[in-house]
Amino acid sequence: MERKVRVRFAPSPTGPLHIGGVRTALYNYLFAKKNGGDFLLRVEDTDQTRFVPGAEEYIIESLKWLGISPDEGQGFNDGPYGPYRQSERKPMYRQYADQLIESGHAYYAFDTAEELDTMRDTLKANGMSPQYDAVSRMSMKNSLTLSSDEVQKRLDAGDPYVIRIKLPRKEEVRFHDIIRGWVVVHTNAMDDKVLFKSDGMPTYHLANVVDDYLMKISHVIRGEEWLPSAPLHVMLYRYLGWEDVMPEFAHLPLILKPDGNGKLSKRDGDRLGFPVFPLNWTDPKTGELSSGYRDAGYFPEAVVNILAFLGWHPADNRELFELEELVQEFSLERVSKSGAKFDVQKAFWFNQQYLRNKTDEELASALQPFLDKEGVQVDKSYLNQVCRLMKEKVSFIHEIYQEGRYFFEPAANWDSALIQKKFKDFTPSVLADLKDAIESSDSFTKETIEHLFHAIVEEKNGRKSGEMMLAFRLSVSGVAGGPPIFDMIAVMGKEATLRNMNAFLSFYQGISAN
Ligand code: GLU
Repeated sequence: MERKVRVRFAPSPTGPLHIGGVRTALYNYLFAKKNGGDFLLRVEDTDQTRFVPGAEEYIIESLKWLGISPDEGQGFNDGPYGPYRQSERKPMYRQYADQLIESGHAYYAFDTAEELDTMRDTLKANGMSPQYDAVSRMSMKNSLTLSSDEVQKRLDAGDPYVIRIKLPRKEEVRFHDIIRGWVVVHTNAMDDKVLFKSDGMPTYHLANVVDDYLMKISHVIRGEEWLPSAPLHVMLYRYLGWEDVMPEFAHLPLILKPDGNGKLSKRDGDRLGFPVFPLNWTDPKTGELSSGYRDAGYFPEAVVNILAFLGWHPADNRELFELEELVQEFSLERVSKSGAKFDVQKAFWFNQQYLRNKTDEELASALQPFLDKEGVQVDKSYLNQVCRLMKEKVSFIHEIYQEGRYFFEPAANWDSALIQKKFKDFTPSVLADLKDAIESSDSFTKETIEHLFHAIVEEKNGRKSGEMMLAFRLSVSGVAGGPPIFDMIAVMGKEATLRNMNAFLSFYQGISAN
């Protein structure tokens, strides 16, 4: 019988979710939806020492913002396999550790931290890898070396202990990874990892495998950093007798820094000016702020598109995909093995494409909160028109305000160096003529302004229009760039245009008098 596709995103709430983690969640979501399966969110919080308050809420909010909501899981819908937070599943794990001890695949170990250090130092000094394994375990304090009476005595006395997996000395562990093909690891390169800790909690390895089994997970899709753990997980499936329902593995490539080598880090983001987190995050201990895509003005659809392309590509050259389209196109077979370089310019480009595809009304409502923050009040239909003109010019919503301030406030702070460089003797008087003509004109449309401009500049003053364009733009808006000039002026309106031109002409008198 075909197995139902069930996949999970299983983050540990140890801080803000890095975009690598968000991409893992996205690929799991896409794979589930493509295959008519379920997508789960499981919070892996067995390591209480690394717990960070707020991190779980942050993960949930990030997934909601991006629209990749799990079908089951913490913070979303309850399902038949809950609870979905591992700390609440604590009583479920011990029986599997006991089962492994009984079947001879795990053992108690009583070594202290100092004894473990000494063992590792000795091995290193002898040029061997510092592993707790088939050889070294025989000189340590565990239930393989101590008599059963001694073991029982220690257990009864409540001595601290851990439970370790007992790996064979020489065996090949083979498993198939959908992205990487066959992976082969020898047990002599593996550690007898701790499965159960002295605080009564399972480790990541045991809890992860047990939960994937109990939650009927069909595919484990996760970051490459977990590839080294996979052979151990395969051994656990085997020793627990679950090999026939072992999930298929797919280890996703790393997201690499834009320049140089290595994994993308928060420091790269700070250095190159882009977020590596979905949402802003304030570290509860240090108060340090890390910036997020949402707060930096990215659209969630753009972030989904950016992340989809970090390690995956579609069958053709298309680049713009909304979530639904990604679901149709996605396949793990087209995820690459090699790391994906983050491209900052491309991220801007994606956001810009989504911005341009929005209606003027959508942009206006997205801009409204920025204007509210600045205390700027404008009419809705005016804002729609500003958005219509500015959307070709910017990559982010807030840039409509930042780069088009003249639409919202009187022009000021003209660049006198630029003016002195560009202005000719005739420029101010032609500008003054133009201002008078605008003032006495009854009509104020794009066409009339354009017509007046040519009439005054060319016919009345015998100049080329190219000689007056920049001056006209500067006088009205205060800046040298922007949307097509006559459209811009028509939207700004007669009153603002004349007010700015008057202010400019007085300003000019001031600088030319000096
Ligand atoms: N808790 C692990 C993490 O933080 C999960 C790895 C996995 O998906 O197995 O990423």
